[in-house]
Amino acid sequence: MFFVFGFGKQTIKTRWADEVRTCPRCGNTKRWPYKKITYWFTLFFIPILPYQVKYVTVCPICGYFETIDQAAFDAASEEADDSDKPVGVPPRTGMTEVQRRFNQEMATYENQKKDKTEQ
Ligand SMILES: [Zn+2]
Repeated sequence: MFFVFGFGKQTIKTRWADEVRTCPRCGNTKRWPYKKITYWFTLFFIPILPYQVKYVTVCPICGYFETIDQAAFDAASEEADDSDKPVGVPPRTGMTEVQRRFNQEMATYENQKKDKTEQ
């Protein structure tokens, strides 16, 4: 009989601050996510017991962080709880730049071919 146990597994819950902050390190002004980091004692890689909880707020640009208290985390709006994306990422469009260029070149090629057959 043997046991596989460990420390240090982390789970992170994210919430977003309602107001923007200016980062003292990189100088960007953004909404900062609040993170609740829970460290777990694991048995057979299954989290069993939380042994440490940290509350931090992180600059989404450079990763600078400050510890906050639980009240600040709890007060943050839960609305965007599942939003792990940093603010300011453009929405995904259907095509990548390479695909767009390829389509453009194909259209040009098709037009040239048409010109040749018409001559
Ligand atoms: Zn920063």
